[in-house]
Amino acid sequence: MIPITSVRFGTEEEELVLQVLRSGSIAQGPMVKRFEDRFAELTGVKHAVAVNNGTTALVAALQVMDLEPGDEVLTTPFTFVATVNAILEAGATATFADIRDDDFNIDPASVAERITDRTKVVAPVHLYGQMADMAPLVALADTHGLRILEDSAQSHLATYNGRAAGAFGIGTFSFYATKNLTTGEGGIITTNDDTIADRLRVLRNQGMRERYVYEVAGHNYRLTDLQAAVVIPQLERYEATVSARQANAARLSQGLQNVRGVVAPQQLAGRKHVWHQYTIRVTDDAAVGRDEFVAKLLEAGIGAGIYYPKLIGDYDAYRNHPRVSLSATPVAERVAQQVVSLPVHTWLSDDDLAKIIDTVSALAAG
Ligand SMILES: *Cc1c(COP(=O)(O)O)cnc(C)c1O
Repeated sequence: MIPITSVRFGTEEEELVLQVLRSGSIAQGPMVKRFEDRFAELTGVKHAVAVNNGTTALVAALQVMDLEPGDEVLTTPFTFVATVNAILEAGATATFADIRDDDFNIDPASVAERITDRTKVVAPVHLYGQMADMAPLVALADTHGLRILEDSAQSHLATYNGRAAGAFGIGTFSFYATKNLTTGEGGIITTNDDTIADRLRVLRNQGMRERYVYEVAGHNYRLTDLQAAVVIPQLERYEATVSARQANAARLSQGLQNVRGVVAPQQLAGRKHVWHQYTIRVTDDAAVGRDEFVAKLLEAGIGAGIYYPKLIGDYDAYRNHPRVSLSATPVAERVAQQVVSLPVHTWLSDDDLAKIIDTVSALAAG
């Protein structure tokens, strides 16, 4: 089986984790600080605030935006459910714009149509490792006085015109076990705003600035030094990791670009794709439907995934939620029925890549 994701750690991680263990202090401490400083530096922002996962990163980021009941956060319906769960947990209303089928990200033209008097935040999700079209989104946010929340869980150090994910607005990242960078569970929030960063640090620690001096009703969103120690060496290797993913993606696209019934993913101009997922679209021209396509890939020993099989509004829990406001998103609907993600991780061999290309081509041709 060629797995869809494969994570391996090195002696650098082992040594740093041991260092933390031997120190006897394994909760949030100097390793978390080191992780934050390095991540902020690499992303090109003033502050990075580490938290315990990517979902709480979203929740905390929304909490410091001081939203009121009825305020709307405009996002994409084609995302991992955490994006919407965080909006609801923060007390806001989730509204949706359609996506584009060339980058799978929120479509600024649709965003422009869906902004209302109550819209306070536009929340693009940089899906699969490629950033949303930020220039028009920034222009819309400026015109309408909106905040930008970038759900960058899948796009660590991806760039748009040279600027990194998380450097346009408030950025949130996940370091879950399957992401490009991992602490098992973990998250981080990026910002250039000193006040926001300060509020986030207080919020993640029970609202406490000094011991038993509570400024706000807070939470425990802390990451541990043990977790931070796992990711620090990965940060130093990350450029090589991304290069390997890019090379694998290029090889797959070269092999799949002329296959009828399959649309290979594109890296759009001005964007650096970090290839969290390599996601093709299986169209009506393919010999088999998408679900059968995936079943046959798995049978052939190729790990394949559907991210995501349904839109958020297709689940009763959200469709019936009083603070979820649905509207038509036909492109997202079609794309959700077409996507298949293939392995693109750094441990693929030439033979693996050839097998993926051959199997996908054969399935599409029938
Ligand atoms: C993984 C992910 C999250 C949530 O991160 P966790 O660390 O699992 O809480 C949020 N948004 C997107 C788009 C994700 O892929």
